[in-house]
Amino acid sequence: MPVLVMKFGGTSVATLDRIRRAAKRVGVEVSKGYDVIVIVSAMSGKTNELVGWVNETSPLYDAREYDAVVSSGENVTAGLMALTLQEMDIPARSWQGWQVPVKTTSAHSSARIEEIPSANITAKFAEGMKVAVVAGFQGVSPEGRITTLGRGGSDTTAVAFAAAFEAVRCDIYTDVDGVYTTDPRVSAKARKLDKIAFEEMLELASLGAKVLQTRSVELAMRYKVKLRVLSSFEEQSDEAGTLVCAEEEIMESNVVSGVAFSRDEAKMTLVSVADRPGIAAAIFTALSEGGVNVDMIVQNISEEGRTDMTWSCPVDQIKRAEKAMDDAKTAGTINFNEVIADMDVAKVSVVGIGMRSHTGVAAKMFQVLSNEGINIKVITTSEIKISVLIDRKYMELAVQALHDAFELDKVA
Ligand code: ASP
Ligand code: MG
Repeated sequence: MPVLVMKFGGTSVATLDRIRRAAKRVGVEVSKGYDVIVIVSAMSGKTNELVGWVNETSPLYDAREYDAVVSSGENVTAGLMALTLQEMDIPARSWQGWQVPVKTTSAHSSARIEEIPSANITAKFAEGMKVAVVAGFQGVSPEGRITTLGRGGSDTTAVAFAAAFEAVRCDIYTDVDGVYTTDPRVSAKARKLDKIAFEEMLELASLGAKVLQTRSVELAMRYKVKLRVLSSFEEQSDEAGTLVCAEEEIMESNVVSGVAFSRDEAKMTLVSVADRPGIAAAIFTALSEGGVNVDMIVQNISEEGRTDMTWSCPVDQIKRAEKAMDDAKTAGTINFNEVIADMDVAKVSVVGIGMRSHTGVAAKMFQVLSNEGINIKVITTSEIKISVLIDRKYMELAVQALHDAFELDKVA
């Protein structure tokens, strides 16, 4: 039998009623002849509550016990989903991560999946079981301890199962009905995409379109797992939602597929650093060791052996960045005149695989921003993305203007 993976996020299993609704969807797929692997999240809000309990009990917690507690939300929904399916006369049973086993590294709270042996579940399918309900987000370390995969990790569980079982598709049921050209709360003209390429989704996911955990998209791209994002709150057909797939499967697409943004950015500049070999290494090593996730980087041309170095990072990391720079100055590893922090910036990006074969996207983007009187502070580009840093107060305006200018409300 062909295998289908269906993943239900926290809002889709938030109540017994919703679990029943989700189980009905599973029943529809079973009746089409699939062996189904259902991956469940914890009920929405549950994981946050568990994390809160751990922090209250032990602020400097033992990460192994954190995982023991925080993984438990998924155990509840897996069992309830199996019971619900049994009530519908569908042969089903639940599996916790360690029972499969989902073998992971021992990096507690951010473990990576290393292997999912398919023998146990396949044997059950052969005996007539129709649905294997698996608790998402969790696995077992080589030491035999329970691990978790990082917040949002059940998406990654789902894709890993789809790869391991060579599933026809991995359907991700969530509270939105697909991937949009931009956030519909920012532009009323945002349009749901029928298809999007893995690379584009990766850019959108890491830019803050929080539909899928970034790692799950990376994994899907590596193993060519067809991913579909769709709503568990609507009646669904085979074409519903958005298909995340290989570029080759997308015949026509706009040059730009989406406008992404990230609101809480900050910009920092080191004024007058010595321009010598190793200076960038010294600065960014210090930032990285200080726990700062640097995104964009610009180095000015130098004058008389001195230059300015600018980078962006999440706004809540700016204090850490300042400290890392002050410490490095005290230690004598870098030397500069001044640190300037700009806390009121946002990043806006246009993304599209069509940029590989079309010129003029950057020019058009800059012209659109200029027409709106928006100043660009930093620019970075990749093969399929152009990002700018601008004042945060213009972020919505920029997103709307770009969405209009690239006509993302219209199908190519
Ligand atoms: N329940 C976990 C979380 O909230 C995993 C997931 O739902 O993907 O992060
Ligand atoms: Mg999620």
